[in-house]
Amino acid sequence: MQSNQCSFCGRSKSEVEMLVSGQEAYICNQCIGQAYSIVKESDSDTKNNKELSLENLKKPREIKAFLDEYVIGQDRAKKQLSIAVYNHYKRLLYTEKKEKNDVELEKSNIIMIGETGTGKTLLAKTIARELDVPFCIVDATVLTEAGYVGEDVESILSRLLMMSDYNVEKAEKGIVFIDEIDKIARKSDNPSITRDVSGEGVQQGLLKLLEGSIINVPPQGGRKHPDQKYIQINTQNILFIAGGAFDGIQDIIERRLNKQVIGFNKEKIEKAGDKEEYVLSEINAIDLRAFGLIPELLGRFPIITYLDKLTKESMIRIMKEPKNSIVKQFVELFKMDGVELEFTESAVNTIVEETLEKGLGARGLRGTTEKFLEDYMYNVGSEKKITLL
Ligand code: ADP
Repeated sequence: MQSNQCSFCGRSKSEVEMLVSGQEAYICNQCIGQAYSIVKESDSDTKNNKELSLENLKKPREIKAFLDEYVIGQDRAKKQLSIAVYNHYKRLLYTEKKEKNDVELEKSNIIMIGETGTGKTLLAKTIARELDVPFCIVDATVLTEAGYVGEDVESILSRLLMMSDYNVEKAEKGIVFIDEIDKIARKSDNPSITRDVSGEGVQQGLLKLLEGSIINVPPQGGRKHPDQKYIQINTQNILFIAGGAFDGIQDIIERRLNKQVIGFNKEKIEKAGDKEEYVLSEINAIDLRAFGLIPELLGRFPIITYLDKLTKESMIRIMKEPKNSIVKQFVELFKMDGVELEFTESAVNTIVEETLEKGLGARGLRGTTEKFLEDYMYNVGSEKKITLL
């Protein structure tokens, strides 16, 4: 073997940037790069295959247990989500093996209803992490009907593709979280004569993604334009989880309940304990339709679940208990400077009370804590032990 050329591509030393020598061979920097991507690709292939076997698929109980480590409360939503996700991936296995005459299993996309900062995004994100599938979050409010200012619905898939390192096969098994789905509701219950750009048009656009078809996706996102190259993505096995606060949905449900059951009056609802909770537990697609989601779209979201309002007690638990709780994060952060940080019960209480006033749900906890710790972070190093009172 010549000592001045790559044993793989034959390029001479002068043609490459670097030549690495082995026992009886040489390899150039370009071949190292190529070899590395081959290894990486086959690695991720093995991983993909591993994900897709019934033995490797976590059972709903196991998925829920994983969610419990990160998300406080919300048991009902966690349970429903775990079942839906398990069925989704089981369906995927079934479809791959399916014989011609087998039953067609339908997809179980999910809508989660709950006030801001109650854990909707966190639930979806945690599930994706547990399953090790690509995950992306899109805000429904930035989407517009094709031809209008804003982003086309296809940009959702561009984002998923990006999160999958442009591996189409991986993206096709991913999870998409569509946030603020309630913001694209039709403005009134009656279909309007004029076009409703922000609402119904976008819902129509989403339909084609949700129903499982092959979509031309602009790889870099943004708007489609004629001379752009597209990547085709089949959305049949992509799981869509949508979330929204649906302000005012309580009244809609209540009105229906009052109308529907003769003699089902306010007293009965009130007698059932926590009224709000009871009313929400009765939610179904009819109410979401009255809110302004079109029936075709609702048909693609067979599972509707709701999240509980966070109480002071659950906010306190959120501060302390999750695997990466805010308290744990700041303790670690100070530890890096050799400082021992301790949150007393009353400090946690104060932070939670201040956050509750802001009405941002648990989302506000971090900000309040940052503010609480501002001076300590600024003066870090001047004390070895800090006890927050
Ligand atoms: P939204 O319901 O608006 O999607 P998020 O899931 O984005 O709310 O919650 C915002 C943040 O608040 C999360 O990143 C998390 O830190 C915290 N949080 C909210 N709900 C919970 C919960 N049930 N358990 C643990 N943390 C939570």
